[in-house]
Amino acid sequence: MSNTSTALFAGKSAIITGSTSGIGLAIVRAFAGGGMNVMLNGFGEPDEIEAIRAGIEQSCGVKALHSKADMTKPEEIARMVEDATRAFGQVDVMVNNAGIQHVEAIETFPPEKWDAIIAINLSAVFHGTRAVLGGMKQRNWGRIINMASVHGLVASPYKSAYNAAKHGVIGLTKTVALEAAESGVTVNAICPGYVLTPLVERQIPEQAQLRGMTEDEVVSNIMLAVQPTRKFVTVEQVSALAVFLCSDAAASITGTSLPVDGGWTAQ
Ligand code: NAD
Repeated sequence: MSNTSTALFAGKSAIITGSTSGIGLAIVRAFAGGGMNVMLNGFGEPDEIEAIRAGIEQSCGVKALHSKADMTKPEEIARMVEDATRAFGQVDVMVNNAGIQHVEAIETFPPEKWDAIIAINLSAVFHGTRAVLGGMKQRNWGRIINMASVHGLVASPYKSAYNAAKHGVIGLTKTVALEAAESGVTVNAICPGYVLTPLVERQIPEQAQLRGMTEDEVVSNIMLAVQPTRKFVTVEQVSALAVFLCSDAAASITGTSLPVDGGWTAQ
């Protein structure tokens, strides 16, 4: 698809943090497919990231950039927003998506993992939002989408830092939604259940060791047991909701935490 005036998001620009992999990359592809300029962010092999970036520019006819900003560093987050603003003219959509996980009982949970999870999964949402909101308000249009989790709504054991950060993201989402409510800027959280991305793939052996189970048992008795559909959520199902939230039809949806969880939180 090319970035013509008929494309859904022609002329709009987005930053998607943590988008070299998993859910963030699916959102980048969905936004660019709708004609939006995109700034990718996240870690990985430089050649692979460049191939993804160039491929998106070529196939979607949009501008695609990559920022190496580390979400633990507020000054790098501010610079990423400045770079996107300079390259695109403005940032219309901010997806605060970067996240990490560590699964361990609280008694032995390493304090440095706690600090890293709070920095990337929660504080980076504050810093990113702070940097983009003023411009969005001035233009009377904007979308802030925070990737929370089912673990922002309910808890599971051994995820103290992650659960605390994701519950915090939902509180922050509600607050900013109220502050921006009259300005045409909506602020929402998406709460996926288990999505089979590298973040979850890494947890399977960790959980197996903690719980004395096989990896297959972790998948069927822990992960899919809590999702009544008994299926992983897909990255495309999450990115489709992000696309909808950017549409004008979603203008009255703000301050919400929307589960995409196969029925997990209905139980
Ligand atoms: P992933 O591991 O596939 O991707 C994480 C991304 O974040 C990568 O691009 C990585 O490079 C980037 N990243 C990590 N640390 C960073 C840092 N310091 N600075 C910048 N980028 C950094 O994970 P995913 O499953 O796609 O997760 C994306 C988001 O979705 C996370 O916030 C996660 O908590 C949330 N989430 C995931 C699931 C799931 O089941 N996979 C469920 C609910 C919520």
